[in-house]
Amino acid sequence: MRVGIAGAGAAGLATAWLLEDAHDTLVLEARESVGGNLRSAYVPGSAGAPTALDLGVQEVPLHLSSVVGELAKALGMGGHWEELPTGRTIVCDGTPSARTGGNGSVGAPRVTADEALAAQELLASEAADWQRQDVAWTVPMADLVEPWELPRHVKEQAVYALPASVFGCTPADARGLSARAVGTFYADPGPDADARTYRLRGGMQALAWQLARECRNTRFVPGAAVRRVRRVNGRLEMIDSHGDRHLVDAVVLALPAEAARRVVGSLGGTGPLRRVLGAYDYNDLVYGAHSDPCYLPGERGRWSPTTLALHGAWAETTTWHAKPGGDVFVSQLTHRDVLPRSVLATTAFRTVLPTPAMLTAQDELLRLQGEGGLYFAGHITTPVDDLDSVLGSAVAVARHLATDSRRLRSLMRATGKET
Ligand SMILES: Cc1cc2nc3c(=O)[nH]c(=O)nc-3n(C[C@H](O)[C@H](O)[C@H](O)COP(=O)(O)OP(=O)(O)OC[C@H]3O[C@@H](n4cnc5c(N)ncnc54)[C@H](O)[C@@H]3O)c2cc1C
Repeated sequence: MRVGIAGAGAAGLATAWLLEDAHDTLVLEARESVGGNLRSAYVPGSAGAPTALDLGVQEVPLHLSSVVGELAKALGMGGHWEELPTGRTIVCDGTPSARTGGNGSVGAPRVTADEALAAQELLASEAADWQRQDVAWTVPMADLVEPWELPRHVKEQAVYALPASVFGCTPADARGLSARAVGTFYADPGPDADARTYRLRGGMQALAWQLARECRNTRFVPGAAVRRVRRVNGRLEMIDSHGDRHLVDAVVLALPAEAARRVVGSLGGTGPLRRVLGAYDYNDLVYGAHSDPCYLPGERGRWSPTTLALHGAWAETTTWHAKPGGDVFVSQLTHRDVLPRSVLATTAFRTVLPTPAMLTAQDELLRLQGEGGLYFAGHITTPVDDLDSVLGSAVAVARHLATDSRRLRSLMRATGKET
């Protein structure tokens, strides 16, 4: 059987890797390089040698990420993980919050460092309860957070500001996001749990490159966006941006919903599918690597590994990397009026919003899985957009299409998901 995969992000690459020992596989990717949101920048480090900074996927909690961990091992990268330092400071309009009280200034009150810490702890413990109680994924944050006895400015500048930075929305808009989906990022893992997070030495994009490299029997066509899929004599035909046609027996759409919707637009009988894909919303996120500590508190002693800066209606993060060649930073720059003095690289992403409408649509999408030879993988199929879930979606597609894949069986054995 010939399987055409649209998209060479984490999901498309992992699908190809799992399927290629059972089928003839082809991957079409719109960009010139593979990885999708696995995207690293290589900036001058010590003595000018390049050092990798992750602009897209930055961290993986390995203890919760069995598929990522086992896949990295299978690719010979199991020893390449490096622990990331933890800690987050919230600053308002460039000024670090006072340790306690002191909101006597004119204008809106600013969250203090103590208030922010207490709010983050409350969110962590409540989010763990939402998971334990199996709260429906379609319940918006506001339904669960508004009853908390916290001052309005603390809810806005701490509780809602955290997901606002992840999803590129305002704290006000974060109220409408799924509490369960947001809570997954912040839930307290428990007193005995390992809460460490990791990155790959060499950058997370190296995982994408290694996956592509190990796909020895797959044909990759970078720089070829899939424009349309249509039916031809009982098979499917993928037409790419060069006008090339690829006849296949099954298509895996490992794409953002907006692209998937365009691709299936001319396929007969896909009205319900297009409606479902139309329920997904995305926001723009621009990340930059730079060496200007402009978004951090003035005193170096008050810097944290992550700083969440509230400015105007927005909340945006900066991560600090103390490298042998000097400090470098990765900042969200989407809504910044003033850019850092020395930007080394920037790149733009679209991030999916976990709204109740999207989560309802996702259930419907999964019911259409496989119909007429069309399969879906990646973040459009997972309630939480994280690397482990996305790689898990590739496993799910492989279980439909290639139960006898050797790699699938060995990955499932390693992750304890054999049944
Ligand atoms: C900025 C950012 C930071 C993140 N940080 C983390 C993190 O730290 N930890 C974590 O676990 N998760 C993180 N995530 C979640 C992450 O997106 C997912 O885990 C995962 O990388 C998504 O993979 P995907 O294959 O579903 O989609 P994508 O990575 O979006 O891949 C889709 C691919 O399809 C291609 N494409 C689009 N249209 C077409 C077309 N018409 N034809 C062919 N190809 C097309 C795109 O170019 C892209 O390569 C982050 C996400 C974003 C956006």
